[in-house]
Amino acid sequence: MAGLRCTACQRTWDEADRPGACAACGGVLMVNRPEAAGATFEPVEMPGLWRYAALIHAGQAGGIVSLGEGQTPLVPLPRWGARAGLERVYAKLEYFSPTGSFKDRGATVMVTRARELGARRLVEDSSGNAGAAVAAYAARAGLGCTIYAPASAPEAKLAPIVAAGAQLVKVDGPREAVAAAAMADRGGDAYYAGHNTNPYFVEGTRTFAFEVAEQFALDPPEHVIMPVGGGSLFVGAWLGFKEWWRAGRIGRGPRLHIGQAAGCAPLVAAVERGADDAVPVERTPTIAGGVQIERPARGRLILAALRETNGRAAAVDDGAILAELRALGELEGLVCEPTSAVAFAALVWLARAGAIPPHERVVVAVTGSGLKDPAAIWSAAGRETPV
Ligand SMILES: [Zn+2]
Repeated sequence: MAGLRCTACQRTWDEADRPGACAACGGVLMVNRPEAAGATFEPVEMPGLWRYAALIHAGQAGGIVSLGEGQTPLVPLPRWGARAGLERVYAKLEYFSPTGSFKDRGATVMVTRARELGARRLVEDSSGNAGAAVAAYAARAGLGCTIYAPASAPEAKLAPIVAAGAQLVKVDGPREAVAAAAMADRGGDAYYAGHNTNPYFVEGTRTFAFEVAEQFALDPPEHVIMPVGGGSLFVGAWLGFKEWWRAGRIGRGPRLHIGQAAGCAPLVAAVERGADDAVPVERTPTIAGGVQIERPARGRLILAALRETNGRAAAVDDGAILAELRALGELEGLVCEPTSAVAFAALVWLARAGAIPPHERVVVAVTGSGLKDPAAIWSAAGRETPV
């Protein structure tokens, strides 16, 4: 077994114990792999992201839990790019995933490994995309699943969880209370499959970087930007590009930028203050529900990735988010969720600030489908209700 390594104190832990966090310091765990592991990599004849099976620490004995996730399309956005003053903008359409968001990259690997390690029931706290993903893959794996969700979560977000046969537990109070309820439901046959801390979740999201590198013929773009709340895609992308760079497969990876909603931007605040972990902020309501994470567990890693890749962080308000949501639909036919539009609004801001030269290539991760949040589509169109 490769074992797990704490990203804070660097201690290593045995996977068979299924630790949820570092028992010494509470830090976030990651798979402990040798550097340059990708040097001798050969893709395999498997669908989707399991093309990279040789680089994924799960499923080596077979028994992969897959719904066909990964290998999402990369499409140029010439009309939207021109509007932003950028010549080469590309969207990576992560909403082409089986449950409609990038979370499937993490869920396929996490659920595969959890079953291998003997888990019988998965526990997760989520109000949205991650809950739907974990519930679906748990069903596919024949595992029990309990999803803790805020009592205030919209019905459209909860329906897919119930549809996949998971037990849904609504919790009153703030988001932290939901996480605490899920964390308390551990031990015995249960396994905490929280996407914001689980090491195998990021193991899966690394494949985002591998795909982007291959879609650009191993000459990665100068920039990648994405909406960031807990950073489960961002940290995975950082690790993936870095691994292939160290292995000599690609040149230095892209600058990695983040967008946050102004109503909850602890990472942007940290960058502004030069802090090395997320800064506590007062949260105000935002339409971008997917990035409302006040204390991201992977905050230190996200900020390290920004520093290391010379990335920028921008906070954008709901007006800017809705403007880009509407522009993407009208100019390119892209219907994404408001959380994804955060990245586009942030890109506009960075381009105006001169941080992105017009001729350089930019990939935007379109993380989730607009079909999950119809109310936001009506807001972007300036209508309160369907007419
Ligand atoms: Zn530790």
